[in-house]
Amino acid sequence: MRIRNKIHLFSTIFLFIILLLINSTIYYLFNKVTTEGELDRLTNQTETVAAALKEEQIDPRTLLPAFIPSDGMIRIINQDSKAVLTQVKTDELQKSEAKFQSSQSADIREIGVASYAVVSIPIIWKNGEVVTLEVTESLAGVQANLEILRTILLLATLLAILPAFLSARVLSELILRPIERLTATMEEIQRKKTFKHIELEDQSKDELHKMGTTFNNMVDILKENSEKQQSFVSNASHELRTPLTIIESYSSLLKRWGTKKPEVFDESVEAIHSEAIRMGNLTEQLLMLARNENDWDIDWKMIELVGLCEEVAKSFRQAYNRKVNVVRELPEVSAAGDEQKLKQVLFILLDNAKKFSNREIDVIVGYDQGQPAITVKDYGIGIPKEDIAKVFDRFFRVDKARSRKTGGSGLGLSIAKEIIDAHEGIIAIDSEEGNSTSIKIQLKKGNDFI
Ligand code: ADP
Repeated sequence: MRIRNKIHLFSTIFLFIILLLINSTIYYLFNKVTTEGELDRLTNQTETVAAALKEEQIDPRTLLPAFIPSDGMIRIINQDSKAVLTQVKTDELQKSEAKFQSSQSADIREIGVASYAVVSIPIIWKNGEVVTLEVTESLAGVQANLEILRTILLLATLLAILPAFLSARVLSELILRPIERLTATMEEIQRKKTFKHIELEDQSKDELHKMGTTFNNMVDILKENSEKQQSFVSNASHELRTPLTIIESYSSLLKRWGTKKPEVFDESVEAIHSEAIRMGNLTEQLLMLARNENDWDIDWKMIELVGLCEEVAKSFRQAYNRKVNVVRELPEVSAAGDEQKLKQVLFILLDNAKKFSNREIDVIVGYDQGQPAITVKDYGIGIPKEDIAKVFDRFFRVDKARSRKTGGSGLGLSIAKEIIDAHEGIIAIDSEEGNSTSIKIQLKKGNDFI
């Protein structure tokens, strides 16, 4: 069953049941109160008749007609349950069975097709015998009122259900229209394979509006990711195309002149070799970035940062023959993190410092704002102010031509940032063009990890 019909059906049935319960209660209470009122009134009247019979010396046959209720009857019934005196207005009532009652009673009796209130009171009769004075009165008036009440309640129920039925329709339209719009937009996205926003009516800020906004935000994220992915693929292929073109042209050269001209042979082999290394590094970096951002799989351990920096600086000095000073602010600085991945970040920062400066490099280890921190500082060309925010973007290089010479692909800092993000840390740059560059990483404390 469609949601629209369900809302419709359930709300109408629910309202109908509630109305039925309320109306039945009203009808029952009204019936009870009016019938009891009638019985009380008739009891009082019967007591008046009994008192009159006791006090007045008039013949009961003369006295009783004055007390007969309209559509009613008065009887005197002896102990043999025989009516010794009957005063009646309708023939129908005479058929009712006479019954001696030794105590006072008031009840409702069905005589023929109508209902009657019957009150019996024991009295002393002229001959000294105890008899029953029975007064019967028709409940036609009460029944007529109940009939009117029934009609009113029935009409009220129908009148209440009709607007409820219509409002359920409006309500289901109100809820379902945005959902249908959402579904249509999703289908369009699926069909056309493009990202599209759902149109939202500004005036309401309800749950459905929120659902629409959430959907639109989700579409934005998907669109952004898809664009990022596209630009990543196009940048990556562009980066790979240059070394491939170089390899292709040198290998053609080799094919033609290789054996005849030894100087061409040496140059070509050298160029092919260095481009192959460059492609290898690039592919490795690309593979690293291709993984999901949340997929860095940090092997959390307690790490001593001074030792770690000394170790990385030492191997760097040996590999590149550059002066690297480790400046320790404290003998030991402990942090939480993945040792291998943090070493990788230090290598990226030192590699940049090496590429973009000729002087010594400082690695400062200590605490910054209470958090363990490492700063790699070089005294080289620096980064222009307007580019500082962009250097963490994939494939961004301040000067592409110069970067090619230094062997950079613009991926190092974006990898470093992703690793530090996975460590829930901070990476920040402070640079002065033509003077120095400091890149600082801030990590979580070692005891945070425990
Ligand atoms: P690359 O592989 O090109 O070094 P990175 O992502 O590591 O890529 O760096 C991006 C760019 O930021 C570099 O191309 C360079 O222009 C600039 N950069 C990074 N570190 C430094 C530095 N220490 N000094 C000057 N420029 C830097």
